[in-house]
Amino acid sequence: MKTTLNGTRKPCIALIATGGTIAGVGPKPDAGAAPSAAYQSAVTPADELVSAVPGLSGMAQLKTEQLLQIDSADFTDERLLLLARRVAALCDQDDIDGVVVTHGTDTLEESAYFLHLTVPSTKPVVLTGAMRPGTALAPDGPLNLLHAVAVAAHPSSSGRGVLVVMNEDIHSARDVTKSHTMRVNAFTSPYGPLGSVVEGVPRWYRVVARPHTTASEFGIGQIDHLPLVGIVTSHGQMRSESFDAWTSLGAKAIVYAGFGGGTVPLALQPALRELGAQGVCVVRASRVGSGPVIRNASFDDDACDSVVVDDQNPPRARLLTALALAKSYTAAELQQVLWRY
Ligand code: ASP
Repeated sequence: MKTTLNGTRKPCIALIATGGTIAGVGPKPDAGAAPSAAYQSAVTPADELVSAVPGLSGMAQLKTEQLLQIDSADFTDERLLLLARRVAALCDQDDIDGVVVTHGTDTLEESAYFLHLTVPSTKPVVLTGAMRPGTALAPDGPLNLLHAVAVAAHPSSSGRGVLVVMNEDIHSARDVTKSHTMRVNAFTSPYGPLGSVVEGVPRWYRVVARPHTTASEFGIGQIDHLPLVGIVTSHGQMRSESFDAWTSLGAKAIVYAGFGGGTVPLALQPALRELGAQGVCVVRASRVGSGPVIRNASFDDDACDSVVVDDQNPPRARLLTALALAKSYTAAELQQVLWRY
């Protein structure tokens, strides 16, 4: 740890870079091309991201590492496990006060949620990214990174679970979703953010009610692999064969992103019943994006051995289901997990 002139210790923050648009490079705005949309993600190295932000190195002692350099669409379960193990190892170090992860925005919410469930630490872990590449006319990455470090370095941020800092908002990893393809205010939470960054300091307005980090039963130390869980999304003219691709790959569970409150079309009901009979757990979720799915409403979950999400969106339901299956939970135990988290 570094000591400042007035004798107080500067927080030491580990910064893990994984790529995404925050490390994206495109044509210069005056080159006549679209300033924000045409670019290559995952190019700028971690140390250049840091040096591009005035004031960042004065705020904390930064230990920077380039764990991955990928578009976040290329996150796999193996890479997710790698990230979770690295974040947990850093949180275990006495000389680290918090961790910031820079990440592509497309799957940022999935990685954040996975860390929220698997990193057994009260130290602040903050994910951030950017909707515009560093070469855009008004990039959002530098301010997001400055704010992410400010939040990770602040003592009030500990014990709140994994956080996502974007566009001055501080979201809980349990709730946050990318809900716009382009705008800098793309990240929203159905119950609102936990707080915001005001003049470089976090201000908190609510706390997370569900278990996470140190209260989660899914500590990364106990997880050596994630069982395959797929997602099938509902649409008109659905075919039950959509589920076959996942079962033929050996999926132990399939999240069904149903219509509305998880509705299953009549034509699909026999296939879902058959999956239950084969021991493939169907997790009824919704394609709507927010709101709960109610057990045994519009579909006989008891008869089909299927389970329902609480309000988790399909990508979150996939991760939570995979973690429960990694611990060999039964369908009944998985149901309790989905209601509890
Ligand atoms: N495709 C990019 C990614 O997720 C988008 C972004 O970072 O905003 O890596």
